[in-house]
Amino acid sequence: MSDYKYCPMCANSLALVIRQEDSGATERRACTQCGWTHWNNPTPVLAGIVEHKGKILLARNAAWSSPHRFALITGFMEAGESPQEGITREIKEETNLEVTHLQLIGVYDFQRRNQVLIVYHALTKDGGEIRLSPELLGYRLFEFKDLICWPAGTGYGLADWLKSKSISPQFMEWEEIERINAASSTI
Ligand SMILES: [Zn+2]
Repeated sequence: MSDYKYCPMCANSLALVIRQEDSGATERRACTQCGWTHWNNPTPVLAGIVEHKGKILLARNAAWSSPHRFALITGFMEAGESPQEGITREIKEETNLEVTHLQLIGVYDFQRRNQVLIVYHALTKDGGEIRLSPELLGYRLFEFKDLICWPAGTGYGLADWLKSKSISPQFMEWEEIERINAASSTI
């Protein structure tokens, strides 16, 4: 989570101030000169459970050093697009696959990164050829029953989608995640 030190409007140092808000007294980082406030609201992030030829595509991000971490396709929304347009664009940019059908699975908090995840299941055109963006180092296509969910964030979306397919989701153990993260630059 990024934290502002200086005001982006006037470059004055920010201070912690107590504000009386609808929900009561709340501590905020704010500028004592111009009044700018760092609200630190969660950022919406789109995530896609990409189904291609009857399997689920998980990809490995170039920013991760662990070769064992595969994840859903994710990305930020751009100004002027709907979430549906955003996830369709992200899937095309990252995998070259064309989305033919989208279903909203759910909305999940991911407090560690101060994000709100909007998770879709995406069907893709069978004839499409997978070509990864440079952001991604590799991908794997998983049978539904072989998918293992992270016990956080996108994992809950994947679990809910599996349940909708009458598959009871398996979750990764925290011990294993810590082992993988020890070799990984980001979480
Ligand atoms: Zn200021």
